[in-house]
Amino acid sequence: MIEISNVSKTYGTGNSAVHALKDVNLTIPKGTIHGVIGLSGAGKSTLIRCVNLLERPSTGSVSVDGQEMTRLSRGELNRARHRIGMIFQHFNLLTTRTVFDNVALPLELMGESRSAIKDRVLPLLELVGLSDKAKQYPAQLSGGQKQRVAIARALASKPNVLLCDEATSALDPQTTSSILELLREINQQLGITILLITHEMEVVKSICHRVSLISDGELVEDAEVGDFFTAP
Ligand code: ADP
Ligand code: ADP
Repeated sequence: MIEISNVSKTYGTGNSAVHALKDVNLTIPKGTIHGVIGLSGAGKSTLIRCVNLLERPSTGSVSVDGQEMTRLSRGELNRARHRIGMIFQHFNLLTTRTVFDNVALPLELMGESRSAIKDRVLPLLELVGLSDKAKQYPAQLSGGQKQRVAIARALASKPNVLLCDEATSALDPQTTSSILELLREINQQLGITILLITHEMEVVKSICHRVSLISDGELVEDAEVGDFFTAP
């Protein structure tokens, strides 16, 4: 469960201040897929980055599974982030590492043994359909395959929550559908709560349970997807 309470975020000060989020409130129940749509510059990225504190809210609080992220010490925050996976528009893979070693990275950072890492990485590669690509490098993969690697890496530390920042925006429509299908499987099979942001209505329509609209830093809707798209 994700609880965003009275969160505001201002970049800069004085005349150059940008109010990227304005008193945003949002509760995302465990196991749901929640979409946030909005135009470029509306505050989507800032909102999602406030959940794992890649950005620190100027005011307000964010809790994940009852743990108030905004109050944690640096060490506690690092541990809490293991429970939150994130994927990005441009995949953010390490080009000098193989597929296996990209997925292994978070586990290496957690100090896991080589055999524990293998036991975790191989099933993840199978889950995302890339068992035969373990020894390849990112440059040898298609965009969809790269995003699958990124998804496996995001799941390596067994998160309860997955944050998706325009995860399909760099992909063609057919590849987008297959990545969304994978996200749906992950939500259903592993019970992972998913918060995704996108500027594409179709993404929201196809996999989200609920949706919010963000406009100029304000969250202006929070509705079931069916109600949202049939509203008068
Ligand atoms: P979106 O993801 O919806 O495109 P963003 O959250 O990236 O929106 O941006 C919201 C607003 O905050 C925009 O006006 C953007 O220019 C501004 N902004 C985002 N990040 C920064 C930053 N690090 N410094 C200053 N302004 C920023
Ligand atoms: P994306 O659409 O892939 O999220 P953006 O271009 O919105 O990429 O942002 C890329 C990075 O630049 C983010 O870390 C964001 O916080 C930062 N950023 C966005 N807008 C601004 C801005 N006006 N000033 C400074 N940094 C910004």
